[in-house]
Amino acid sequence: MENKLQLFNTLTRKVDTFVPNVDGKVNMYTCGPTVYHFAHIGNLRSYLMEDVLEKTLSYLGYDVKRVMNITDVGHLSSDGDTGEDKMLKGAKREHKTVMEIAKFYTDAFKADCAKLNIKWPSYVEPATNCIPEFINMIKVLLEKGYAYEAGGNIYFDTSKIDNYYVFGSQNEDELKVGVRDDVEEDSNKRNKADFVLWFTKSKFDDQELKWESPWGVGYPGWHIECSCISMKHLGEYMDIHCGGVDNIFPHHTNEIAQSEAFLGHKWCNNWFHVHHLNDKGGKMSKSKGGILTVSVLEEKGYDPMVYRFFCLQSHYRKPLEFSYDVMDQMAGAYTKLTRKIASLKDDGAVDDAAFLKYKGAFTDALCADINTSMAITVLYDVLKADTNDATKKALIEDFDKVLGLNLLKAAAAGDTASDADPELVAFIEAKIEERKEAKKAKDFAKADAIRDELAAKGIIIKDTREGVVWEITK
Ligand code: AMP
Ligand code: ZN
Repeated sequence: MENKLQLFNTLTRKVDTFVPNVDGKVNMYTCGPTVYHFAHIGNLRSYLMEDVLEKTLSYLGYDVKRVMNITDVGHLSSDGDTGEDKMLKGAKREHKTVMEIAKFYTDAFKADCAKLNIKWPSYVEPATNCIPEFINMIKVLLEKGYAYEAGGNIYFDTSKIDNYYVFGSQNEDELKVGVRDDVEEDSNKRNKADFVLWFTKSKFDDQELKWESPWGVGYPGWHIECSCISMKHLGEYMDIHCGGVDNIFPHHTNEIAQSEAFLGHKWCNNWFHVHHLNDKGGKMSKSKGGILTVSVLEEKGYDPMVYRFFCLQSHYRKPLEFSYDVMDQMAGAYTKLTRKIASLKDDGAVDDAAFLKYKGAFTDALCADINTSMAITVLYDVLKADTNDATKKALIEDFDKVLGLNLLKAAAAGDTASDADPELVAFIEAKIEERKEAKKAKDFAKADAIRDELAAKGIIIKDTREGVVWEITK
């Protein structure tokens, strides 16, 4: 098939024409969450833009197979292979077992993805499911001389790789393990950049999950899991590997080193990295505490679709700054957009020429390195276009296969609101007024109870800059 997608590739540091290994088929891998806490909306920006990439590929006609891991062991508090396992930290914090924590936060992540219309990948595999695969890869790396045993752990020897810093932007100095206060240098390492493949010795002896291995009872390092899980489902060749920009180094660099050492050939051709969501304090992160989740946004009255709309307005390779002011603007714009769509009539047959013209413009925007803001401009152009409403509706339905903004559904819900029974409208308005008074009196418990009472009747209220808006969902 014709390959027209232009995609920035972190490996070549330029926009390349995307060409998969097998014509018409795409093997895609996403680094999944470390399930010791809720995903914050920064993490979800990465998953959301990766979802847009997957949907673009499907829209263009590729048969996409996507795999994601769930990190439930081995991701230590520091990327320098020291510190406590993040999962164990989470379990201690909540007085639960690691497996309970993993299940709870995997389910929560799945629910967040569903709210944001992020398609769950075809294969999702927890690291703890694949211990034999990790052990096998480490055995081969030892046999081939790419790994060594020291102080009870197995390390990957980065000096055995000709071009370890494949992404180019890192060097030994930037890799000073001591850059973070809480990180100590590991004296077992032959080279500063070496990383742990299998731990049997750590000062954190209370690691909860451990397995038998040829090197003693222990647990895998974090990097090995993505190499093994992707190969388990996608084989020896991959087309696109995704993640947030903080994964470029050391995680993806290490994945490439060990995978290519194991396979003896090039592994993945395209690397797709999503830039960070920042708040005023810089990169949003789980370890900072007080994390901003989709549920927090909902509690504040924002539809998760408004967050998706916000993310799509900016390019995935640019940092994005979150603020409630911008969210308010987005909420207003989203409501206006869906109201406009709600006003479209079913007025006859689709005009094929107009349909193809705008579909072409939309496809071109996506093919220009996933230019989602340009794609949304095309959507607005459709609404203004000199064609009939049926054509506009058909285009909106088509575009939403990629945008995933629930546009026709939200328009229909908005329509229901305007058609609602006047008695019900009066009831809702009175409740909103009562809630406003409760908030003024700082009686937030009462304000929340009113919101919950309405929600139980299928009425969702949202606080926006333009005031409180409501919607009937059932
Ligand atoms: P983690 O659960 O920490 O392993 O991270 C899950 C994904 O979120 C990874 O792809 C990270 O690169 C990505 N990520 C972490 N912080 C941010 C952020 N502030 N903005 C966007 N993506 C992020
Ligand atoms: Zn990974």
